[in-house]
Amino acid sequence: MRLRILLGMLVLAAVATGPAQATVRPLRPADAALLQRAATPEERIAEAVAKRLTRLSPAVRCGNLGIPVPPGMLVSGITLLPPHGPAAYFLLLPEMCNYLSWFRQSPETYDPGNCSDAECFQLASKAAFALATVSHESYHVLGYRLEKQVECYGMQSIWFVATSLGASVAEGQRIAAYYWATTYAERRVKTPTYWSADCRDGGRYDLRPAGHSWPS
Ligand SMILES: [Zn+2]
Repeated sequence: MRLRILLGMLVLAAVATGPAQATVRPLRPADAALLQRAATPEERIAEAVAKRLTRLSPAVRCGNLGIPVPPGMLVSGITLLPPHGPAAYFLLLPEMCNYLSWFRQSPETYDPGNCSDAECFQLASKAAFALATVSHESYHVLGYRLEKQVECYGMQSIWFVATSLGASVAEGQRIAAYYWATTYAERRVKTPTYWSADCRDGGRYDLRPAGHSWPS
């Protein structure tokens, strides 16, 4: 039987082009080889975080995502969603895995609250994006497919990924707030499929409507 897989992707557009669409496609033989090899330390980090976030045990591998990416767009992760049941794995770009590893070594380095120059903010932005990729793909693993919902939920769990990797709660909250003010805000124009006006404090996608410490 041919297993049909729905792809869930986190996309960052570097320029204003149309967002990539989720598509249905068969499982790739190349993924089987990737999944069979032992996890690297970076992959084990991502797996541990995804496990804590989802209470499932998805495998995570860093490597080629195996999908065509339109010019000017960055697809940083992909979850292959079966028609029924939870996804068994997701893939991350190697750069995302590097940032997870670097972040764990020194979370405070990637706290935008410690930044005073553009280079520092750029590093903080990349690290936040890597954290957000793990939480985004984790919500796909949980079965969510609507990208604007997945992205909103993922953003609200950036703090969780950050603290799982050694950041303080305050650091995690600052990183999430920075992502909300920058990368997420840009999505409205650059990748509108991943943006929603309902993704706000008290909005339909607010995971903690009783609290007002948005987005964490
Ligand atoms: Zn996605």
